[in-house]
Amino acid sequence: MQDCIFCKIAAGEIPAKVVYENENVIAFHDIKPVAPVHVLIVPKRHVSDVISLASDDERAALMQAVLQAVPIVAEKMGVADKGFRLINNCGTEGGQTVMHLHFHMIGGRDLGEKLL
Ligand code: AMP
Ligand code: ZN
Repeated sequence: MQDCIFCKIAAGEIPAKVVYENENVIAFHDIKPVAPVHVLIVPKRHVSDVISLASDDERAALMQAVLQAVPIVAEKMGVADKGFRLINNCGTEGGQTVMHLHFHMIGGRDLGEKLL
């Protein structure tokens, strides 16, 4: 999609520190990390959010691609054994600022039990 920063990263038009990439998914370091490990796992196809993801089977299959990438990225980032938090922000009140579906993998320190 035009003017979508994550579409541009997926297309290689904007640089990113890529951790893992396959046909369907790209994972790269967040530009403003909140923890020692902060990677975004992003389906390459433009889908705006999880609501839109659930709208048809073809889109829903992207979730499987994201899930398959999770253990690979976790292993690469050294958090597969220690643990991490996987977060999706959806919509304005959910704190979503980039309207291209993505999941934050956050870890590398003790995140505690609570989200906030
Ligand atoms: P969210 O607030 O859930 O939509 O998350 C968007 C995330 O994208 C934020 O954590 C930003 O720091 C991150 N971000 C925005 N632009 C870039 C970029 N060019 N490269 C890497 N991460 C980015
Ligand atoms: Zn996009």
